[in-house]
Amino acid sequence: MSTDCIFCKIVNGVIPAKRIYEDDDVIVINDIKPMAKVHFLIVPKLHVETLKDCDVTHQTLLGKVLLLAPKLAAEQSLSGFKTLINTGREGGQEVFHIHAHVFGGGKV
Ligand code: 5GP
Ligand code: ZN
Repeated sequence: MSTDCIFCKIVNGVIPAKRIYEDDDVIVINDIKPMAKVHFLIVPKLHVETLKDCDVTHQTLLGKVLLLAPKLAAEQSLSGFKTLINTGREGGQEVFHIHAHVFGGGKV
């Protein structure tokens, strides 16, 4: 938990956001500025800044994030989708709490 992190605030309910999925390890929310008809974010509850900060102790969590993508995409009737994890400022990351984007259904 990082007190100045927007996704930690969402995870902890300090900032409200509709969760399209939640379990002990992750929440899934629709992106506030969708870049596709379907655009959601799979966000681990654990505050880890970037993929570069992950090691073998995060392996199960990262696997869980990836495996949720097809499951939740299917629930939204997508037969295919794109996934994206921006890493670091140079990698286009804006929110420094690791998350995977899932896009589908064509452009907004
Ligand atoms: P990044 O560039 O870090 O991979 O993407 C961060 C994403 O988080 C952006 O697509 C942005 O629109 C989204 N985002 C930023 N703040 C909020 C928020 O308060 N709520 C939601 N649902 N999405 C957010
Ligand atoms: Zn955080």
